[in-house]
Amino acid sequence: MASALSDRLSRIVKEMRGQARITESNVTDMLREVRMALLEADVALPVVRDFIARVKEKALGQDVVGSLTPGQVLVSVVNRELAATMGDGVSDINLAAQPPAVILMAGLQGAGKTTTTAKLAKHLIEKRKKKVLTVSGDVYRPAAIEQLKTVTAQAGAEWFPSSPDQKPLDIARAALDYAKKHYVDVLLVDTAGRLAIDEALMREIQELHGALNPVETLFVVDAMQGQDAVNTAKAFKDALPLTGIILTKMDGDSRGGAALSVRQVTGAPIKFAGVSEKIDGLEVFDAERHAGRILGMGDIVALVEQVTAGVDMAAAQKLAAKVKSGGDFDLNDFLDQLRQMKQMGGLSSLMDKLPGNLAAKASEADLSRAEKDIKRKEGIICSMTPKERSKPDLIKATRKRRIAAGAGVHVQEVNRLLKEFEQMQGMMKKMKGGGLMKMMKRMGG
Ligand code: GDP
Repeated sequence: MASALSDRLSRIVKEMRGQARITESNVTDMLREVRMALLEADVALPVVRDFIARVKEKALGQDVVGSLTPGQVLVSVVNRELAATMGDGVSDINLAAQPPAVILMAGLQGAGKTTTTAKLAKHLIEKRKKKVLTVSGDVYRPAAIEQLKTVTAQAGAEWFPSSPDQKPLDIARAALDYAKKHYVDVLLVDTAGRLAIDEALMREIQELHGALNPVETLFVVDAMQGQDAVNTAKAFKDALPLTGIILTKMDGDSRGGAALSVRQVTGAPIKFAGVSEKIDGLEVFDAERHAGRILGMGDIVALVEQVTAGVDMAAAQKLAAKVKSGGDFDLNDFLDQLRQMKQMGGLSSLMDKLPGNLAAKASEADLSRAEKDIKRKEGIICSMTPKERSKPDLIKATRKRRIAAGAGVHVQEVNRLLKEFEQMQGMMKKMKGGGLMKMMKRMGG
């Protein structure tokens, strides 16, 4: 299946070579393939629909840079959107609570709750240096309590005894009380598994939630569940204010589409991935890597990202040759540079690589302003005649007024642009003799 999927996407990538833009007419076929790829990765249908609509909106009108095909650019947009949807930078466990911080584990039976509880205990002990206590509220399966005892010992955490003749709520209260008295930092509460969504059990976990006031309510879900993960996730989300997701069994051969579905349905961040049955088989969830897994084409995506993120080397070489042969850096070249910056998508990576005074340290807000700024400058240069662009010295007061009116800006802005151009021109002169290519390479990262 994996290879069929890659073939499908490779075909998208090869198709429609030579088209300069992603348009309404060429995007439809490509998106059909992406849709199939996502369904094959077991992403739930409504989630796929939503996702495709978002990708379409983002992809339309995207320029196709350098030697890329529209297909490659689309795959890159899909990949970025997948990663952005699944990841939001929140990865570790939130422990910002009056100790003991309580973590409630929720999920279907067999999802991997008990195993993950112990994995998490180990993580918190080793990485966060916490004193951890576990307790099982699963009074329906005596084996579950014993299982937690065993794996807790493996994790090197403390285990609070419970038994099938107790009420889950009493167990939880007793464990919390013990944790407070013994200066436990984190109390991990494993709960009864459900084979399917069961109202009585849902009510029980809601009660536990109410009594424990957990700082994290983690939904544990089996990545192999595929399409079914959506319904489970929805039921748990409706019952509990979930704060995070742990996807288990990522070492299995699923394509991991459940990640996208569950993330979308619950709105909660995916914090960890279970990658083996062993106690240390827990990893911080990596949205980008997972996007590659869903698309099944890590290499192509990486390549495309590299090209789109880099400077258009062909244009850079042309400019370098021109400057080297003594040609003047004119406003046409300046415009090319502006356009390249725009094509590189996000300016942030570029900004701190730019030399000299252009590299003014920028915040995120500055960057979006910078992007608008580029558009305005482009507008100003486009209001100039070809002659003015190649001989900027011609541009005096009257022409400035005309250009400003044409671009819908104040004359001061035209002045500012010309000044910046002169600075750039000065820099280019200094770089005669090979320095420019080096600078371009640096900018391309
Ligand atoms: P619970 O019913 O939700 O408590 O689930 P368990 O913790 O008992 O796990 C069910 C089964 O899944 C066990 O055989 C675990 O060893 C296995 N399991 C849990 N997490 C993972 C994982 O990340 N990878 C693999 N391969 N197996 C896992």
